[in-house]
Amino acid sequence: MKKAVIKSILIFLLASSIFLTNCNSPMHPQNLGEYLQDLFISNDVVLDEDDFLEPVDNLYLAYAKILGLIPSSYRSGDRITEKTAEQISDDLLAVRDKLLLDGLYGKIDMHEHYRKNGSIDTFLKAAGCFGISRVVFLPTGSPPDNHGYQANWESMLEQLQQPYGDRIIPFCTIDEADPNAAELVEQYIQEGARGLKLIGGHPDFYDEPLNSENMYKVYQVAAKYDIPVLLHGSIMTIEGLKEQLEQVYSDFPEVTFIHAHYCSTIMSGINLDVCAELLDKYPNLYIDLSMGGGIARYHKYLRQDLAKIKNFVVAYQDRILFGSDIILGLSETKDFNWLYERIKCDIDLHEKAEYTCEFGESDRDHEGFNLDKEILKKLYYENPKKVLGF
Ligand SMILES: [Zn+2]
Repeated sequence: MKKAVIKSILIFLLASSIFLTNCNSPMHPQNLGEYLQDLFISNDVVLDEDDFLEPVDNLYLAYAKILGLIPSSYRSGDRITEKTAEQISDDLLAVRDKLLLDGLYGKIDMHEHYRKNGSIDTFLKAAGCFGISRVVFLPTGSPPDNHGYQANWESMLEQLQQPYGDRIIPFCTIDEADPNAAELVEQYIQEGARGLKLIGGHPDFYDEPLNSENMYKVYQVAAKYDIPVLLHGSIMTIEGLKEQLEQVYSDFPEVTFIHAHYCSTIMSGINLDVCAELLDKYPNLYIDLSMGGGIARYHKYLRQDLAKIKNFVVAYQDRILFGSDIILGLSETKDFNWLYERIKCDIDLHEKAEYTCEFGESDRDHEGFNLDKEILKKLYYENPKKVLGF
């Protein structure tokens, strides 16, 4: 009995001391908005309204959210403690030298993969350094039938509840051979999916035709809820796939399709004419420029004929989306620095005339597209906005 009383007194004292510590943490004299502005400017980070891809109320508050220094729910007039202010300052200093200072803020990244145990938080922090504010994550599973995708989807739904959750644009995925695929897509949309990723048409995955009766039910759901469909589609190497997809693109003109990786036409030679033909024929078709694990192979073709590839990007600037195609959760080596360096390759390829990047190649010097700001705005924001229906 006596022991129990002492125990409860101890618990009471411990609880009160935690309470008092919190109460004693002094408030910072400025509100959050004022504090952030002073903090950034004193670190030579001076922001310009024109560099934001969408209008924001407070430039510094918006940038602090993109960098993951504060949760998305914080407001400019919020009061913060000295301790919080100090933490924000430490976190900014940790990435200060990595910040893209003359770039665009509010970029939308349209192609990254999420697997259970991957760190979206770390990805968003690395991506934030380049002004990427929101990211499409795809909960794809493993070959040959996309198994494990449901656990990845469940885990992504939990991620949406985190302080950075509103920076995630969740897409769902399916097994194309599953007779319940259409019902499942409908369920995932109700749970929050903003798009659908098909893994069929990838050489490592199940070769279920993408124009099957089963898949037509899936496209009907995409049409009903007006969600985009992203697909890998190796049309140069998988026989008959181009014809299947053409039938789908033409039978569902109301559905926006995104054929990833330049329609998978610079993976075994430069066959961009085939991609151009598809884009000309199907106005509901978009592409992305993601390079993923095949970055060394893309670099080989970029070196071979950069002018041709750049001309294609300029010609189809209204139909192109930005993304890296990194698979989170696959490897422990994908820490902040790895992610930062990998995303940097894509950003630099788009924005610079020359850049260095090395992922398994002997020569790290590359020529980039050096695209005009107006084109970059389309790739990073205006085209994603159209596709996602913002
Ligand atoms: Zn991918």
